Amino acid sequence: MISFGIDIGGTFIKIVAVNKTGKVLKNQKLKTPRYLSSSKFLEFLAEIVNKYKKELKIKNAVIGIGIAGDTDNKKGILRFAPNIPWCNLKITSGLKKLTTCKCFVSNDANMAAFGVYKKELKEKYKNILVFTLGTGIGGGLIIDGKLYQGATGSAGEFGHIKISDSNTGNICACGARGCLESYIGTNNLRKLTLQAVKENPKSKLAKLLKKEQFSVKLLSVAAQVKDKDALLIWNYFGTHLGYALSNLILIFNPEIVAFSGGVSGGAKYFIPALHKVFKMQKIHEPFKNVKLLVPKIKDIGALGAALYALSMKNEK
Ligand SMILES: [Zn+2]
Repeated sequence: MISFGIDIGGTFIKIVAVNKTGKVLKNQKLKTPRYLSSSKFLEFLAEIVNKYKKELKIKNAVIGIGIAGDTDNKKGILRFAPNIPWCNLKITSGLKKLTTCKCFVSNDANMAAFGVYKKELKEKYKNILVFTLGTGIGGGLIIDGKLYQGATGSAGEFGHIKISDSNTGNICACGARGCLESYIGTNNLRKLTLQAVKENPKSKLAKLLKKEQFSVKLLSVAAQVKDKDALLIWNYFGTHLGYALSNLILIFNPEIVAFSGGVSGGAKYFIPALHKVFKMQKIHEPFKNVKLLVPKIKDIGALGAALYALSMKNEK
């Protein structure tokens, strides 16, 4: 028995194949083929799975898919995705037809949460929040040792929690205003960076930006050399994330909050601002006890999806 984990994001797709003990046998990273129609996209995924099945000489496999959008985990449908082009995609039935594998789908951050719980923390902690930080901001919840997906599979949409006025706040990729993602998603970080560079054209950040295109890594490099604007942007990031996170901590009282995704690389620059927001809270206990973590395991979303499929393989 092999399990494939497929993590589908706005920019990249990561695929892993694991054996039944969760050992990684293969992995691959590809650009998300945003130009494909939904049926061609399913064929694209099936081709990779079928190629691996041949290479690994296996017949019996399951597939777990984590996708950056609002998914119906029970019906196997991607309903809506602000940052990827396919909506109302019947992903599990489509992929099953093309690969003969049993398929399961969930939101990508849910799969990352499952990966953190099972592999990174080895089930040692039972109440975990996971943020995926990138173009989009996702969330996953482990409550009492179980992945919590909610009534419609939509639980954990942390990126679309409102942290500002719904009429005047920043406009989000989902179409609403005031969502967390519209403040700390990479599109807004790019906007803030370009604005800062315009105002301070001689800063270290401005010099870096002359040599290469904007990336979150560049913001970390600039913060490392104590560029004021980069430090201010990371502080802005941490403060806004802190507003949403402090509400979530009051609701769920987690032991662990994990940050995955590309922007988690800047954790050491945004975590001080999180602690500042935590200190402003008057109910101290949940904030004193929560541990903040960046998973060491790479591709935790794809791995989580593969492990999720293994855990679900006997379900209908
Ligand atoms: Zn939104």
